[in-house]
Amino acid sequence: MKGEEMKILVVNAGSSSLKYQLIDMENEKVLAKGGCERIGIDGSVLKAKGNGSEKIYEKDMPNHKVAIELVLHALTDDAIGVIKSMDEIGAVGHRVVASGEYFKKTTLVTPEVLKTLEEKTFELAPLHNPAAATGVRACMEVMPKTPMALVFDSSFHATMPEKAYLYGINYDDYKAYGVRKYGAHGTSHKFVSAEAAKYLGKKPEQLKIVTCHLGNGSSITAVDGGKCVDTSMGFTPLAGVLMGTRSGDIDASAVEFLARKKGLTHSETVNYLNKKCGVAGISGVSSDFRDLIAGQEQGNERCTLALDMFAYQTKRFVGAYAAVMGGLDCIVFTAGIGENTPTVREDVCTGLEFLGVKFNREANYVNGGKSDGTIQEISAKDSKVKVLIIPTNEELVIARETAELL
Ligand code: AMP
Repeated sequence: MKGEEMKILVVNAGSSSLKYQLIDMENEKVLAKGGCERIGIDGSVLKAKGNGSEKIYEKDMPNHKVAIELVLHALTDDAIGVIKSMDEIGAVGHRVVASGEYFKKTTLVTPEVLKTLEEKTFELAPLHNPAAATGVRACMEVMPKTPMALVFDSSFHATMPEKAYLYGINYDDYKAYGVRKYGAHGTSHKFVSAEAAKYLGKKPEQLKIVTCHLGNGSSITAVDGGKCVDTSMGFTPLAGVLMGTRSGDIDASAVEFLARKKGLTHSETVNYLNKKCGVAGISGVSSDFRDLIAGQEQGNERCTLALDMFAYQTKRFVGAYAAVMGGLDCIVFTAGIGENTPTVREDVCTGLEFLGVKFNREANYVNGGKSDGTIQEISAKDSKVKVLIIPTNEELVIARETAELL
């Protein structure tokens, strides 16, 4: 089977969830998609779409193996099924958050690869990587003959130069423990930067782009000549701008100080910084930007502060990355907030005229400021720097990478 003839199952396993898409690589169409929720918890459910309709399976899913069996059942179901048997699935692409320095690119699953994933990378992403490995093992049990690929969120960032990814810690400790910036959302940054080049009718090599993936987790990346040269997330996805519930960058001494004052252990403090901070912590209202904007409209000053901080910090990275690349041709907004929150886009771009950004406020508010699913240009025709809204598609990148590998 050639790559482009293949149907690829993309799996994104979380600790109690498993999202999937079946993509036909001949035309890159999504044939079916859905997600299992509450795996290993009472009340597990699979919501599956295919053949233009949706079906909800309320079935006990004690583990990921049962979940993937149910997904395969849904894919071949009489009503919503899109394939006759699982033999039609040419390969499975698994999303993996952290690669450490062990994997630089998309990798075919072998027993050794799985061993490295499990033994070396779990501590880098304790919430995400064990879940991904569980998903891989579950798929291997249910579809033992189907090739599988690991597609890492951090791969796109593997091109960062050492001066960008190193922290100012002892070099021997970096070497011994791998403590450095790895970045995240790589599949998204890769996809939208390539789409931007296509849209602008240029080769990626000709462009300096800052991609702003602004969602519940947010990261900003400098893409110079098609390659990542710096990114805002770090050793883990806690770094960079403040996010839904994550603090973003903070002085390490303040972390120790906070832990002492609050009587928290190391891991409790990191948990606090991941779960209780960000715009939710600043506003005291919500991590969801829809709630923050509603709060701002009702005069809630802390909602306004949270929104101001988010746009300010994002802008700071845009400016820094323009400096790092020695120029800027394009800013891309993507993901839940980037695609749907016009005030954030406007606040980030306002004041960047000195860089050559001429923002088109009217275009920014077309369709109520929400993405219409296509690429939208929100800079003026004569703006030196193009500003684009590009809907992200991480699943498609995972499927493409998997097909290319095979
Ligand atoms: P993501 O992680 O990319 O799914 O983004 C999720 C976040 O995007 C949510 O927490 C919201 O803050 C934001 N978001 C999603 N849809 C909208 C919308 N229609 N309007 C404003 N913000 C939105």
